[in-house]
Amino acid sequence: MPSRKFADGEVVMGRWPGSVLYYEVQVTSYDDVAHLYTVKYKDGTELALKESDIRSQSSFKHRKSQSSSSSPSRRSSSRSRSRSRSPGRPAKGRRRSASQSREQKDDKKKTIQETSLALVVLVLLKPSENNTKRYNGEPESTEKNDTSCIPLEQKLKPDLEIKHVLEQYSLRSRKDDKKTEELFSEKKTFVAVKPIEKVPSKTKELEFGGRIGTFMLIFLLPATVFYLLLMCKQDDPSLLNFPSLPALESLWEWRVFGVFLLWFFLQAVFYLLPIGKVVEGLPLSNGRKLQYRINGFYAFILTAAAIGVLLYFQFELHYLYDHFMQFAVSAAAFSLALSIYLYVRSLKAPEEELAPGGNSGYFIYDFFTGHELNPRIGSFDLKYFCELRPGLIGWVVINLAMLLAEMKIHNLSMPSLSMILVNSFQLLYVVDALWNEEAILTTMDITHDGFGFMLAFGDLVWVPFVYSLQALYLVGHPTTITWPVAAAITVLNCVGYYIFRSANSQKNNFRRNPADPKLANLKFIPTATGKGLLVTGWWGFVRHPNYLGDIIMALAWSLPCGFNHILPYFYVIYFICLLVHREARDEHHCKQKYGLAWERYCQRVPYRIFPYIY
Ligand code: NDP
Repeated sequence: MPSRKFADGEVVMGRWPGSVLYYEVQVTSYDDVAHLYTVKYKDGTELALKESDIRSQSSFKHRKSQSSSSSPSRRSSSRSRSRSRSPGRPAKGRRRSASQSREQKDDKKKTIQETSLALVVLVLLKPSENNTKRYNGEPESTEKNDTSCIPLEQKLKPDLEIKHVLEQYSLRSRKDDKKTEELFSEKKTFVAVKPIEKVPSKTKELEFGGRIGTFMLIFLLPATVFYLLLMCKQDDPSLLNFPSLPALESLWEWRVFGVFLLWFFLQAVFYLLPIGKVVEGLPLSNGRKLQYRINGFYAFILTAAAIGVLLYFQFELHYLYDHFMQFAVSAAAFSLALSIYLYVRSLKAPEEELAPGGNSGYFIYDFFTGHELNPRIGSFDLKYFCELRPGLIGWVVINLAMLLAEMKIHNLSMPSLSMILVNSFQLLYVVDALWNEEAILTTMDITHDGFGFMLAFGDLVWVPFVYSLQALYLVGHPTTITWPVAAAITVLNCVGYYIFRSANSQKNNFRRNPADPKLANLKFIPTATGKGLLVTGWWGFVRHPNYLGDIIMALAWSLPCGFNHILPYFYVIYFICLLVHREARDEHHCKQKYGLAWERYCQRVPYRIFPYIY
């Protein structure tokens, strides 16, 4: 007996969740574990449907021809000519009793209510305030963020059924927006609703070069870190001057590993302190929201105090500089062990807790990208903790150690201007991330990527040991810059920071509270998921303004190192590649999530990161 009824690529009729409406969809894949079909609607939206919610087109047409009752959208117009798409309609010519016809009337009313909801564009404005314009020949559904709005539920209080459906799904008209206007034309309101529940299925599209690519990255990433650190220690760090390999035994020291563990667990203790507010993350695929304690900035203050005490008691912080490579090896060994632990525990995790991007069923791929989305030990969220604490705060401590090492090695009473700039710019970046810790909850790392080798190695090794490359470079390669040059670089960093911060805050505030009065002047395109896409402000300038700001800052961090070598520019070059690739991944996810609405957004905002260039 075949395990599935519909083949990939087959065009069938799929029920829209929560309604009796069927639309033409194409089967894109089938998950034989969850027994769910992934189908694509004509507007590009993809959903996972059960077999019972799918019908073949032929059987559908057959029913239609026999049917006498109207489809939800047609019933209101012409009864005699109507064709129902609803299954379970009574056969033509059958006599109806009074109760049957009352039932049917109720059914009709209910269906119209459901249909009206299906047709309600989630974001509705007063007609007088509607910003609808003509766009590429199509009516554009851009809406102004009206903060005087009231929840739709309040307006429809008597209609509990509507409220029920509204709470469960955010539906967007696919057929007939005109009906919407007729049904709810008196006043348009804004509603925040839960996204459609989507059962996670197997990851079909592999990223990062698939199994071979991820296998190679597991070796390539650590090799790059060691290559960069060895290069930086050379007097002449030209690309062609390949460094000689150190003796293996010189790479490991238990004491250094002990210091690393101490650091990691000290940060874990700070994370567990009951200080700072507790906030909810974005809804997971099952509708649940996880809680996160926001105390990263306090952890930073406590760390700064601890470092101050160490320095007061004459602790030589440049121990870090002297054993830099051994620290990097310790962090890499720890991140590998952590990744193995994460993968093993993910094998027991329920299907719904697996990452949308890391559930391919291929060991290497899932190990690299991260199989479980939010691995937790009790309330201790391992991914969230590693994202901002040990690596990011560690980066600042390493920079400080480099500054002290520079002063000691070159016998300076003051650090060099270049070193001060690099330290201050990067300190600002880290403090900003910790101060705005809550914003990380809407980023791809938290909402999409699982916790595996990629993030464990990235957070614990790549960030602290590669991002501090400029400071390490300056210790061995002193660079003098003039005050005017320093001022120009500072302005560049401030411009980048301003774009980065305001773009991230705009999006984060909009996602958390679309009716925020601060965002009242922004316009957005409503989407089928209930979330809007901003089309004015920073997100109307380019599609990833936060990446633009980040790249400008990255350049400002490299410039104080002068132009003698390309090595300190590794960060900005790598970062452009990373963000261009990340942007492409994000576009792909957004296209799947938002379909036509995303295409409209792309037409409206044609440049991805760099205006008029890319
Ligand atoms: P973003 O914060 O850019 O988030 C992308 C998401 O924003 C999309 O998936 C979509 O999610 C939402 N979105 C996209 N367009 C719009 C729009 N027009 N209106 C409203 N929402 C929109 O993603 P990242 O996680 O990649 O980046 C976060 C920050 O971290 C950035 O500033 C980046 O520069 C920085 N970063 C830094 C790195 C480093 O190593 N220093 C590495 C990676 C990132 P949805 O609709 O589902 O909400």
